[in-house]
Amino acid sequence: MTYEIVLKDRLPVTHDTNKFTFNKPEGLEFEPGQAAELSLNIEGFKDEGRPFTFTSQPDDHDLEFVIKSYPDHNGVTEQMANLTAGTTAQLDGPFGAITDHGPGVFLAAGAGITPFIPILRKHDREGTMDGCTLIFSNKTEEDIIMRGEWESMQNLETIFTVTDSEAEGLRHGQVDKEFLKDHVKDFDQTFYICGPGGFVDDVRAALKDLGAKADNIVTEEGW
Ligand SMILES: Cc1cc2nc3c(=O)[nH]c(=O)nc-3n(C[C@H](O)[C@H](O)[C@H](O)COP(=O)(O)OP(=O)(O)OC[C@H]3O[C@@H](n4cnc5c(N)ncnc54)[C@H](O)[C@@H]3O)c2cc1C
Repeated sequence: MTYEIVLKDRLPVTHDTNKFTFNKPEGLEFEPGQAAELSLNIEGFKDEGRPFTFTSQPDDHDLEFVIKSYPDHNGVTEQMANLTAGTTAQLDGPFGAITDHGPGVFLAAGAGITPFIPILRKHDREGTMDGCTLIFSNKTEEDIIMRGEWESMQNLETIFTVTDSEAEGLRHGQVDKEFLKDHVKDFDQTFYICGPGGFVDDVRAALKDLGAKADNIVTEEGW
């Protein structure tokens, strides 16, 4: 389905990530974790649809997206960093393979946290956080999206790791087989994986080597 949406508000979340609030069109339904393609009504970008995840709950009054900008791509996300209220966009969707399959280990890298924002907020709201662990990998401490919200969620175990710097209280290094062996007790549970580049492939392969079943891995290709 195609809808037109209007930007109400943009607020910074980190140095390169913003939270966008749009009006929610009538009739739009989606599940926490799903995404839509957004095409900005800006000259030169109308045909440049890109996938982004709804971070609001399906029954919220507005639509929320959390979007990381990559100025070096000279693409859509560079434009998004400067959007002002009133900008319109075309929304096509919903779609997406990541939905809530109950408690488990949520493995995210960078903006790959976005499908887990509505899923973990739902568990927080419903009091079903027991058994949820968030392993969140970033380049530096400054890149961690919504760290305060994750740390304040009751019963959510959080493990933050950074790859390109050292920071007090944070693990350092890649989420690889050794890391997973050290931080995950049970490989017979649900694993959610989301992130750009090779993160999904590498983590999925490591989990399978450690005994995780393919059917218990919830992920999305193409980030
Ligand atoms: C289902 C799904 C949901 C998603 N949800 C979100 C979300 O909620 N929030 C979010 O922040 N992201 C999300 N993403 C990722 C997001 O879609 C991409 O970051 C976005 O499409 C990038 O768009 P862009 O136009 O800025 O750059 P791109 O379309 O990636 O690139 C534009 C051009 O830049 C060049 N380029 C590409 N990569 C590089 C590079 N590494 N260095 C230099 N140049 C490069 C290429 O020439 C390319 O043609 C999601 C992805 C998927 C698949």
